[in-house]
Formats: sequence, structure tokens, C-alpha cells
Amino acid sequence: MTWHNWGRSESANPVRVVTPASPDEVATAIADARRDGLTVKPIGAGHSFTGIAVADGVQLNLSRLSGLLGVDPELQQVTLAAGTHLHEVPALLAPHGLAMQNLGDIDAQTIAGATSTGTHGTGAAFGGLATQIVAVTLVTATGETLRIDSSHELFSAARLGLGALGVLVDITVQCVPAFKLSAVEQPEPLAGVLESFLERSAAPDHFEFYWFPHTTTALTKTNTRLPASSESAPLGGFKRWVDDEFMSNTVFSWVCGVGRALPAAIPSINRLASHLTGDRTFTDVSTSVFTTVRRVRFREMEYALPVEAIPHAVREIEELIARKNWRISFPLEVRVAAPDDIWLSTAYGRRTGYIAVHRYYKEDHHEYFRAVEQIFRTHGGRPHWGKIHYRDSSDFASLYPRFGDFLAAREKLDPDRVFANAYLSRVLGP
Ligand SMILES: Cc1cc2nc3c(=O)[nH]c(=O)nc-3n(C[C@H](O)[C@H](O)[C@H](O)COP(=O)(O)OP(=O)(O)OC[C@H]3O[C@@H](n4cnc5c(N)ncnc54)[C@H](O)[C@@H]3O)c2cc1C
Repeated sequence: MTWHNWGRSESANPVRVVTPASPDEVATAIADARRDGLTVKPIGAGHSFTGIAVADGVQLNLSRLSGLLGVDPELQQVTLAAGTHLHEVPALLAPHGLAMQNLGDIDAQTIAGATSTGTHGTGAAFGGLATQIVAVTLVTATGETLRIDSSHELFSAARLGLGALGVLVDITVQCVPAFKLSAVEQPEPLAGVLESFLERSAAPDHFEFYWFPHTTTALTKTNTRLPASSESAPLGGFKRWVDDEFMSNTVFSWVCGVGRALPAAIPSINRLASHLTGDRTFTDVSTSVFTTVRRVRFREMEYALPVEAIPHAVREIEELIARKNWRISFPLEVRVAAPDDIWLSTAYGRRTGYIAVHRYYKEDHHEYFRAVEQIFRTHGGRPHWGKIHYRDSSDFASLYPRFGDFLAAREKLDPDRVFANAYLSRVLGP
């Protein structure tokens, strides 16, 4: 059966699909593939928009490597099987009073897939998922099993390895005591949000905003961390359904369909959307606030820029859309992250701001994304490894100081390129 990613931008017809139930079966699948001259690609939930998870040879489906393998209550660390989905994690951690420190927008991904592409959320003092990882177990191309923790020379490569170094079979995560988030979501003038962006994004725990093109309004989201004992004030079931399911999915899907048939209507629709959504406050357990459900399919490009460049870049994108007279129905999303030391992390060594642009999956995204990418390039932007971009390996040595070290790690662990595919050959070289 043909495999498709969530955004329907990639597909694959692997020679065979193997569903190993243990690290030994992973090693066997790799050995069998080598014998047959096939490449191997583990897949997660298929939520990358790039071809990073495309398997031509053996597709490793890790759905049987799932669940909680161990807990260290003293260190507040948990070991999860690599194929565990993020939406399964809260229930696994709850009995231990633990939570993940920060999350992205959705929880459909697997822990291994998410960390392998540098998945992140927002928060000036918080890094992406890979920064929460304290150790991994990796099965290499020769079937060797490596336990890689902070004392290992490949720690900064293996936590965010693009699936190029081997198959992660388990991941140990540094958790934090369970906590709640108080959320304030409100429309504000875009001009003011951009002017005060550096202070606004640094002050609260988790700040982000959305901007619908053709409007002057930003929808800001400010989340503050509270102890688990704080009183909850969750969104009522009906209010949550109206906002998160009906408006964000059902109505938005109609809107995208109308916008596609009648692009001239998009500015009015966007103005209406920015008035109807995003004015609410609530307090709930962290995972319910961090993540939402996305049912309307889209394609996405996201770049990491030095945080200071964010206001300029958003204004340049606004000017670009106006100059080209494009009609863009999907919002920009703007987030921040702390610097880290992970070799291929988009936040490596700098305070980072992220800008994501989207298009409905039935619309052509290339012209818009290519033009926006030119803006990101001028600001020294680094593309998200799991989201659409047009860069190749010749660009990355200057963007990532440790790119050469990552290539050396790949050469050492996978000299025969058992884990290669076309995307990896493009971004890392043959
Ligand atoms: C609706 C939507 C919302 C999103 N929101 C965010 C967000 O808020 N923040 C953000 O940063 N990103 C976001 N993303 C991007 C997404 O988090 C990443 O693309 C992520 O990698 C997807 O995880 P996955 O489990 O689907 O992995 P896949 O896309 O299936 O695989 C990604 C990579 O991981 C590798 N891999 C998978 N399992 C293993 C393993 N066991 N060992 C080694 N390598 C492995 C694959 O080979 C591949 O290279 C979003 C994507 C979508 C579609």
C-alpha cells in the first residue's frame, strides 16, 4: 500500500514494511535489509512535510515499540519506547506526578519522530523536545546497540539525528513535576505586538502569536506555568468544542474550500476569523493547553531566525504578500526558543524566533514558500528539518557550526548509507 504523509506532500512505496516488537527485531530487520541491498527508514506518525520519512526499501513501523519502559522517580526521568505517541505520554506520566517540560502544537507525533526533526514549542527559556532528552538507545547500521547519554561523544548528534544515524529504540526524557498552565488568548494590533515583540516574548513562560494575512490583528497566546495544585478553570466542554473543533477545524475547512474557489473572499474571511477566534482565558493541565487537534490538512514551511530579526521578517512577509497581490488564507505562526547545544538544532547557539507559513494542502504552496524563504535566507534562517524548504547540504555548513561533526558521525555510524533517502542525500550529501 502506498504510504502518504499527513500533509499529502510525500508518498512512498516501500519494498516491504517490517513491524519489529523488540530492539533485537530491529537489528534483524536492518541485517535482512542489508542482505537484500535495501535501505531502511523508521517512520513515526508521518507528520513531517518533507520527504525525511520516505522509505524506498524497508519501512520500519515502530508501533509495537511503544509505552513506558522505566521511571526514575528521584531524577524525574522516564524511558519511553521510541514509537510512543506524544498523546499517549500524559497518561503514562500522570501516575508518577510528572509531565513533559514543553510541547509543540499537536501531540500526534511519536517521541522518536518528533525529536529527530527538532520539533519545538514556544518559550524563551525553553528548548525543543531534543533538549529534554537525557539518553537514547540507538541500533546502528551494523546492528550494534549504543546507549548514548551526556557522557557519550555522539550525545549532541543522536538526540536530533534526522533518522540518519540509526534507529532509536528508546528515549529517556527529563520530566518536570506535573503543572498547569494559565492561558490568555486575545486579539491585539499586529503593529504593537511587533514593536514590543522582544520584551513580550521574553517575559512570560510561553508566548506566541498568529497573524492572518490581510488583517492588522495578531492573536496572541500567553501561557504561564502554575503548580499542579492551582485551581483549574478549563474551557467548558461546549466552548472548547466550538473554538477548537468547530471553528478551528470544521469552519476552517469550509473557509479554506471557499478561499480556494474564490480567492478574492480571503481578506474578508481572514478579518472575520481574526475577530471570531482567540479571545479567551482558561487554566488547565499543561498538555491540554499546549496542544490542539488539527484536522484541516495544510503544508508548512518554518524557519528559525535570530530572535531580533522576527519583527523585520514578519513585516517583510506582509509587504511581499501585498506586493504580489496573493490571497493567503492560513495564518503565520510566530514562536520563540532558548539557545541549545544540539548540533543540528535550529536553535543551536542562538536565541531563536520561529516563523511558520502555511497553505491549504489543495493549493500550490511553492511560489509563496520560495519567496518567503528568500526573506528567511537574508536573516540567516535555518529551516525546520520536518517542514518544507528548498535548501541543500551546501547551505548548512555556514548555518550550523557543528555540521561537519554531524557528517562525521553519520560517516562513522552509517558509512554504507543504509538509512539514506533522497531527502537526506539532499540535506546531508550522498
Ligand atoms: C499538524 C502538524 C503540526 C505540527 N506542529 C509542530 C510544532 O508545533 N512544532 C514543530 O516543531 N513541529 C511541528 N510539526 C512537525 C512535526 O512535529 C515533525 O515533522 C515530526 O518529525 C513528526 O513526527 P512523526 O512521529 O510524525 O515523525 P515522521 O515524520 O514519521 O518521521 C520524522 C523523522 O524521524 C525519523 N524517525 C522516526 N522514528 C525514528 C526512530 N525510531 N529512530 C530514528 N529515526 C526515526 C524518520 O525516519 C524521519 O526521518 C507539525 C506537523 C504537523 C503535520
